[in-house]
Amino acid sequence: MSSRGRYAPSPTGMIHAGNARTALAAWLSARSRGGAFVWRLEDLDEPRVVPGMAEAQMADLAWLGLDWDEGPDVGGPFAPYAQSQRSAVYEEALRRLAAAGRLFPCRLSRKDLQAVASAPHGAEEAPYPASLRPCELAPGWLAESRDAAIRFRVDARPVSFVDRVQGQITERVDLAVGDFVLKRRDGLWAYQLAVVVDDLAMEIDEVVRGADLLASTARQIQLIEALGGTPPAYAHVPLMVNARGEKLSKRDQGLTLRSLREAGVAPEAVAGYLAFSLGLLDRPEPCRPADLVPAFAWERIGRADWVLPEDLAGELRR
Ligand code: GLU
Repeated sequence: MSSRGRYAPSPTGMIHAGNARTALAAWLSARSRGGAFVWRLEDLDEPRVVPGMAEAQMADLAWLGLDWDEGPDVGGPFAPYAQSQRSAVYEEALRRLAAAGRLFPCRLSRKDLQAVASAPHGAEEAPYPASLRPCELAPGWLAESRDAAIRFRVDARPVSFVDRVQGQITERVDLAVGDFVLKRRDGLWAYQLAVVVDDLAMEIDEVVRGADLLASTARQIQLIEALGGTPPAYAHVPLMVNARGEKLSKRDQGLTLRSLREAGVAPEAVAGYLAFSLGLLDRPEPCRPADLVPAFAWERIGRADWVLPEDLAGELRR
């Protein structure tokens, strides 16, 4: 099988320098292996989806010089490429996991859970206590669980993988998060389920994404294995932060590709800067993404976050 990479943004905000850098790395890795590149639209979180944003994101990354062989705009053999149109695939995965005894319904609210489990110091949320798992489930329970969240029974064993940027990672999912939600009580599919099911269905063999998703990977590997799949390779690209060292947010409008473009910055200047920040160029000199393909290697990419200057447009126009 030839290699297949993907970029899978949620259409909730404009592509900023950090997103573009991750997309560039994903694209370069796929192209340097002669592989296909897939755009998947992760539009499951309906309340957060911004109308027209998917088209804007595609236009901005095309402006930068990226292209894709399959996606919501161009179609392809694994269509549909928008997660909002893939419910039937997720339903089928749930049925298989339920048949394998890996799921159970949970009707507890966030408040109920806080009352039974106390978070360890510093943790955002306590792991779901295994003591809350039901001992027995009636046959056909899944069809009668419309008012419940569906949780995945995690294994109490360490998950290990070698990330192409972050190196060897080992995590105990049971201690970190416990049995996690695959379908929410309000009926929304969880990211963890959709991403795994789609990467398997679309035969993705390399997942490149921001380092903020590193902590989801062990969970996803348990889910992939429960579905009888083989985990892809992973590469978690360090984040770009603003001049105050903060994660980029809607407030950093000046750091979006759209605003750089509107400020008169050339796409080659942006691509060169991003490649320099990744360690692929010695200086931030203008280039096209295609020029970078021959020299791409994951070993060159560092693990540190990258601090963006306040006036990136000014710096890149010079
Ligand atoms: N949709 C996710 C995001 O935009 C990325 C998911 C992934 O690459 O696994 O952050």
